[in-house]
Amino acid sequence: MKVLFVDHSKVFRSVWERMVLHAGHEPLIATDGMSGLRLLENQAVDFIAVSLSLPDIDGIRFTRQVRTMPNGRGVPIVLLTSAQDNRTRRRAFEAGATDVCPKTGIEELFHRASRMANHDDQKLIGRVLYVEDSRTVFKVMTRLMESLGLEVDHYVSAAEAYTHFDDKLHDLVISDILVEGDMSGIALVSQLRETHPNKTQVPILAMSGMDDDIRRVELFRLGINDFIPKPVIREEAAARIRNLVVQKQLFDKVQQQRIQLYEMAMTDPLTGLYNRNSLAEFASKIASAANRHDMDLSVIILDLDHFKTINDEHGHLAGDQALASVGAMLTASCREEDFAVRFGGEEMLLILPHCPLSDAEARAHQLRERIEKLRPAGIEVTASLGVSSRPSGRPIVLEQLIRLADQAVYEAKSQGRNQVVVHGSLGRSTDPSHRAANAA
Ligand code: GH3
Ligand code: MG
Ligand code: MG
Repeated sequence: MKVLFVDHSKVFRSVWERMVLHAGHEPLIATDGMSGLRLLENQAVDFIAVSLSLPDIDGIRFTRQVRTMPNGRGVPIVLLTSAQDNRTRRRAFEAGATDVCPKTGIEELFHRASRMANHDDQKLIGRVLYVEDSRTVFKVMTRLMESLGLEVDHYVSAAEAYTHFDDKLHDLVISDILVEGDMSGIALVSQLRETHPNKTQVPILAMSGMDDDIRRVELFRLGINDFIPKPVIREEAAARIRNLVVQKQLFDKVQQQRIQLYEMAMTDPLTGLYNRNSLAEFASKIASAANRHDMDLSVIILDLDHFKTINDEHGHLAGDQALASVGAMLTASCREEDFAVRFGGEEMLLILPHCPLSDAEARAHQLRERIEKLRPAGIEVTASLGVSSRPSGRPIVLEQLIRLADQAVYEAKSQGRNQVVVHGSLGRSTDPSHRAANAA
């Protein structure tokens, strides 16, 4: 970008020039107002910084003059002054300055210049749902949005647009207020804000030829994010659209990162199962829901057998691989409502809502068999499993169930491992076929 700097001070000029060059931009330097204006007559620039006090005309007159020139109408002009009084500010703004800055903030100012210039260069990627029944306005706006890089889904009626709205697809909704059909733009705004669960995420920009204050306030109350009066000023519309889309996408990114961080905080990277943090987060909710509705709730604890020996014989990496395989198998055999947690090193916990003891027992046997057949990295791995279940009609805390299942695991270990023991009102049960195998 081209940056014009008008200042009488040699020191400031050279600081500025170095900064601009360093950032890979083109500096244009003028020592007084008149030479600055002459420069602008011959070429367009992307940003102007001008000192308030210049040897010939002052910065305010310079600004006023620039605003009358073809090359100076849209360009940001920042006035540099150490006098930060309100009167100077007002005069600067009235003359057409974009902002007033102290000279000492020259570096921050330069960053702002870069942002402003980049702003207009960078293409957006996004999709707009656009409701407009005037062909002329539609053409102008669509061309404008496409020049920003946006794709446009255009509808002439609000009702049609409403049925095609997709909060995963659209980054912005732009609606004219008076449109063809039974549904007005106001009704569309109200419907979008009411019926969509992620209702704050997709910004809505309303457009109207009737720029009456009461209606506009009403629209903002209903949840629009911005408003453009018709006839549209293209630069303004472009800047507003860009801001809304960029903000929405930033918001999406932050949301996504938040979800990722949350998942990272809740999952165990080796097995892909939930970790103990998540247990603290969900356990009490699961148990209290079961108590409240007197629902079945079972727990299985699974502890891999002689895992220390496996590590010793095959190495820690192979041990890790075995843990990962068991984790993946557990995840694959979980129903939607199940909750599989890496409880300790080689100990895993399954929380099974809506699962009565008999089903939990059957699932434990099935898991035992699957682990036996798994043979991760060719290693024979078995597990001992303990099962417990919430007795009907009696409130429990999850820790009780876990403790009972843990006792059952202990029993399974002491009875020879690679088996299932059930703890609970139904009494103990082991896999008979397997007991035979163990005994043999
Ligand atoms: P038992 O049949 O009685 O359960 O015997 P065990 O050796 O499995 O039981 P113990 O609790 O004494 O040892 C558990 C072992 O699991 C010890 C530890 O090195 C290993 N272990 C725990 N976490 C990991 C891990 O993330 N990776 C690997 N490779 N090994 C682990
Ligand atoms: Mg073990
Ligand atoms: Mg253990």
